[in-house]
Amino acid sequence: MRRRSFEEDAMATRQSIMRDGGQSDDHRRALGVMPDGVASYSQIRRPEPLYLERAEGSRVYDTEGKDYIDYMLGAGPLICGHRHPRIMAAVEAALARGVPNVGVTRDQVQLAEMLCHYVPCLETVRFLPTGTEAVQAAIRFARKYTGRPRIAKFEGAYHGQSENVMVSVSASWKHRGEQTSPTPHPYHCDVPQALLELTVVLPFNDLEACRKIIEQYADELALVIMEPMLGFAGAIPAQQAFIDGIREITAKHGIVLIFDEVITGFRLAMGGGQEYYGVTPDLTVLAKAIGGGMPVAAVGGNQDIMDVVSVANHPDDYVFQSGTFSAFPVSVASGIATLETLDRERTVEHIIETGDTIRNGLRQLLAQKRIAGDVTGVGSLFHVHFTREKVFSAREAEDADQSLITELHERLLPLGLYYYAGRLGFLSGAHSGDDIGYTLDTMGAVIDEMIGEGKFDSLRTS
Ligand code: PMP
Repeated sequence: MRRRSFEEDAMATRQSIMRDGGQSDDHRRALGVMPDGVASYSQIRRPEPLYLERAEGSRVYDTEGKDYIDYMLGAGPLICGHRHPRIMAAVEAALARGVPNVGVTRDQVQLAEMLCHYVPCLETVRFLPTGTEAVQAAIRFARKYTGRPRIAKFEGAYHGQSENVMVSVSASWKHRGEQTSPTPHPYHCDVPQALLELTVVLPFNDLEACRKIIEQYADELALVIMEPMLGFAGAIPAQQAFIDGIREITAKHGIVLIFDEVITGFRLAMGGGQEYYGVTPDLTVLAKAIGGGMPVAAVGGNQDIMDVVSVANHPDDYVFQSGTFSAFPVSVASGIATLETLDRERTVEHIIETGDTIRNGLRQLLAQKRIAGDVTGVGSLFHVHFTREKVFSAREAEDADQSLITELHERLLPLGLYYYAGRLGFLSGAHSGDDIGYTLDTMGAVIDEMIGEGKFDSLRTS
């Protein structure tokens, strides 16, 4: 029997919310004013969204006061956990000073210096409020720098919600083409054909196939944008030879290599995926962890490329980049305090160790329960794919049993474990050994329950 893909599963979730909606007063009220009763897609939960009221350390608390170990961390930003005292103090002090966000602040210069210090590729940076906008700025800079129109991205990679990158975000599409030459397709939106034609889609972790495609379009390609580890596709790390090869091919053809480190920044290492792999891109996009829970993003890199944005150097021909909430003072204060905390408390080392503990624990769990699966992730990010295949790309990840991982996460919620259902887990400096122990024990118990119901029958190993 064909398994439901993630897309179909998400659709079933939406339909069940519609059908059973209005169970709680809160949800009924929300349905009256917001489609599906949520502010954005990531809040959708089956049978209805979770109402959260407060958060502390590794926990979030719902409106009834029930606590959950938080593996979503606001979709990644809260790398030091909720309400870290140093970050709280910095945020409160920034609020107390007021928010003069259209003048330069010394704090924003300090945050820029810190980012340039830690992240190998960064010589200069500009700030924006969200990852989506920073990705768009990077694309705009690369197009201007190279004078070329096309962009290339990887199948399964999410780079925010602008039309030109809302292409082949999922590999679960029946016309997805050969694995070695994915067919570009819009992701839950209508991308105008002219725009779609400018987006070239590459297969992750297949260097020879990428080489062919990149060489085919080389003269027209402004950039290749890549996550060093595919994030929302399921924490799928690039292989070393692959990422080295992409660096070499792009350099050879004068194509700007952009690392989207919105998820991997400060999570694979202090210097992100580029430090972890020892590969320096031309531009880098950062968001999430650099604000420690407050909205701030950055785009930066090689000074020659970043120069395209300089009004002083190109008064008639500069690339426009702006935004009302760029380097918002409260976010900047939170970002500085976060990076200071990471440095002083050696948080990144700690969360990488925690990551190893949970990944090893999950591998042991699969072996003990005799279930086929692949545990992926690096640093403070982890995921389990229920499949007999090794997961190297979005195709293997999406061909794995999506409904089983989604169901496992859903069953963990009432037991106090908060995951982005079906998606990767994030760790923070606040997650303790006890949190991990409880998580692995609870997962083991739920997996036993599901085995008893025959849910894993097709994935049993001998
Ligand atoms: N790039 C990546 C790799 C992401 O994971 C995301 C969001 N999860 C974005 C870009 C977009 O960031 P934002 O949601 O801040 O717009």
